[in-house]
Amino acid sequence: MKEKYNCDPKDIICVIGPTIRKCHFEVKQDVRDIFYKEFNYMKNINDIIKFNEKTKSYFIDTVEINKNLLREEGILEENIVDSKVCTVCNSNIIHSYRKEGEKAGRNTAIICLQ
Ligand SMILES: [Zn+2]
Repeated sequence: MKEKYNCDPKDIICVIGPTIRKCHFEVKQDVRDIFYKEFNYMKNINDIIKFNEKTKSYFIDTVEINKNLLREEGILEENIVDSKVCTVCNSNIIHSYRKEGEKAGRNTAIICLQ
């Protein structure tokens, strides 16, 4: 949007819709390593990737990663609106591949420029 439409990041409002959240995005070492390699420069990486001693796996906060990426682009904190909806926790009203597997439906969003 900055390049194509010459938008000032301070004028952009971002919404983080329903998605799998850190409460359910649990992964094994291989996936953790991919995320760590890409995002270890982030100051709060130790809050983003948490080891679960009990299951020997990791919980990853992809929402926080996306918020960091938005901040890096100059989006104002007050213009990052988070729905705070986890698709797994709310799979009774929103599809979740992780919860429903192959039978899961798909979620969509409609976005337009004014
Ligand atoms: Zn959840």
